[in-house]
Amino acid sequence: MAISILLNGYKGRMGQAVIAACSDLGVTVGAQVDVGIDPTSAIDTCDVIIDFSSPKATQGLLELAKVKGKAIVIGTTGHTAEEKKLLLPIASQVPCVWAGNFSVGVNLLFALTRQASRILGSDYDAEVIEMHHRFKKDSPSGTAARLLEIILEERKLNADALRHGREGITGERTNTEVGVHSLRGGDVVGDHTVLFAALGERFELTHKASDRAIFARGAVRAAQWVSGRKPGVYDMQDVLGLA
Ligand code: NAD
Repeated sequence: MAISILLNGYKGRMGQAVIAACSDLGVTVGAQVDVGIDPTSAIDTCDVIIDFSSPKATQGLLELAKVKGKAIVIGTTGHTAEEKKLLLPIASQVPCVWAGNFSVGVNLLFALTRQASRILGSDYDAEVIEMHHRFKKDSPSGTAARLLEIILEERKLNADALRHGREGITGERTNTEVGVHSLRGGDVVGDHTVLFAALGERFELTHKASDRAIFARGAVRAAQWVSGRKPGVYDMQDVLGLA
């Protein structure tokens, strides 16, 4: 189905990658919006909003999608738990794909992390390590946050189990904690490692993105998939048929 996109955050790194992906995939970018541009009138000629901007923009875009009966793809990361709690009920009233990572490889990493957590169990200490470019504003990354959620779900732990880095006399590691470490530097597009360490062996799952085109193509694919679907919050696992 031919669709037209309203792109929010078009001046940014991901915005530019989405414009290139639309051109490659033959999808029309009907409107390009960024800070200081009101999307209200531009939305009428578009079918789906794609957003790669800032968490501050999400509520307004979701409300616009709801009022105008449009679908939305949210790629922006960095929302707090409180923000998500407020936004999810609005998102569920529109066809919405909300994913911390749109790459096919990372979505396979999500599935393998769940399987490894289930098979290895709590005898294996789990830690998540991520690295991104120096310009990234949120930490840990949305992808790391999703990997941690999966590990916590499988281990029946809550967010209190997370250890965001370690410093000083921290004491011995317990098997009810899950470590997370964010590295920042240079132009790294996005590296994620999930590490499971036991006495006698270590198992690591790693994904390295070298071109943000993979996220942009995934987001455009999600926009094509979600347009015309019934309201609900979907993720990339649904788009790829992995759910
Ligand atoms: P960036 O800083 O290069 O670009 C952000 C753009 O959004 C800028 O042009 C900025 O002016 C604009 N912007 C900021 N606030 C806005 C607002 N309120 N309304 C409209 N536009 C606004 O950042 P980036 O590297 O392009 O990343 C953007 C977001 O996408 C980040 O949250 C990042 O973590 C996320 N991201 C997600 C994925 C994924 O697969 N889900 C992949 C890469 C990046």
